[in-house]
Amino acid sequence: MGNGAKAQQKRERNQKDGKVAKSQLKVNQQACDIQCQICRSTFLKTTKAPALLEHAENKHGKGISDCFPNVQV
Ligand SMILES: [Zn+2]
Repeated sequence: MGNGAKAQQKRERNQKDGKVAKSQLKVNQQACDIQCQICRSTFLKTTKAPALLEHAENKHGKGISDCFPNVQV
């Protein structure tokens, strides 16, 4: 026996890795905190309104407030 303990260790390590990946994901989401409500594409919060409007019009044929209601134009 011993395989069981090894498998347990491996599982714990995987869980730990999962946590790290999740917190990294959170950081990424904060960096990209503008999200299109229609296609869920994310944009850097430094993205300028004209670029967002271009996305809204070209991708969806809609206005900026339809895709990015949180963005002040
Ligand atoms: Zn979109």
